[in-house]
Amino acid sequence: MAMLKSSLAFLVLAFAFFLCFIMSTGSYDYFQFVQQWPPTNCRVRIKQPCSNPRPLQYFTIHGLWPSNYSNPTMPSNCIGSQFEWRKLYPHMRSKLKISWPDVESGNDTKFWEGEWNKHGTCSVEKLNQMQYFERSYAMWRSYNITKILQNASIVPSTTRTWTYSDIVSPIKAATGRTPLLRCKQDKKTQLLHEVVLCFDYNALIHIDCNRTAGCRNPLSISFE
Ligand code: 5GP
Repeated sequence: MAMLKSSLAFLVLAFAFFLCFIMSTGSYDYFQFVQQWPPTNCRVRIKQPCSNPRPLQYFTIHGLWPSNYSNPTMPSNCIGSQFEWRKLYPHMRSKLKISWPDVESGNDTKFWEGEWNKHGTCSVEKLNQMQYFERSYAMWRSYNITKILQNASIVPSTTRTWTYSDIVSPIKAATGRTPLLRCKQDKKTQLLHEVVLCFDYNALIHIDCNRTAGCRNPLSISFE
C-alpha cells in the first residue's frame, strides 16, 4: 500500500513538473503576425497622446505572437532569455525602425523589448531573438497590407465605411489566406486597427486565421 501511495505521489509530482515545464517554455500551435494602423492607435489614446502628432500612414508591425487555438492570447511571458540590445545588429535595427516603430511613445527599443519578452520568449525553440525579428521583418516586406488595400481602393477616409468582407476579400485574394481584422471602438465608430496574418508552428507557412472574432461583424468599419 505504501509503495502504491509513493508511486502515485511520484506520478502526480512528475505531471506537475511537466505542466510547469510546458507553461514556462510556452507551447503554442501557430503564430499571429500582427500589423497595426498607427492613426487608430493615436486616435484612441485620449489621456496620453502619441508622441508623434502626425502618425505614420502605413501599416507597421505590432508583433509576432506564438498562440494557442484554445486561447490565442497565450502563451505569454515565458521563461527564457530576456531581450538583449546587442543581439540586434545595426542593419536590423534600422530596418525595424521603419517597419516596427513604437507609434505611441516613440521608444522603439522599449517596444521591441516588450514584444520579445512577452511573446518572443515563448517561441524560442523555433526562433532565437535575431531570427524572431528577422522573420517578422521578412513577413512585413512580403505582405504589404497598405498596398493591398490601396490597390482595392481602400484608403483612409472620413466619409465612407466598409464591411468586414470588403476589407478581408482583397487581402485574401492577394495573399491566398484568410486574415483576421481587429478594431478599436471610438465612441460609436468601429475603427480598423490591426490586420492579423497567421503562420504555422515554424513561422514559415502562411495559413488561414480560423477565428472570426476581431472586428464586430457585420457592423461597418471605418478606416481613417
Ligand atoms: P501585446 O502586449 O499583447 O503585444 O500588445 C498589447 C499592448 O501593446 C497594448 O498595451 C498596446 O497599447 C501596446 N502597443 C501597441 N502598439 C504599440 C506601440 O506602437 N508602442 C507601444 N509602446 N505599445 C504599443
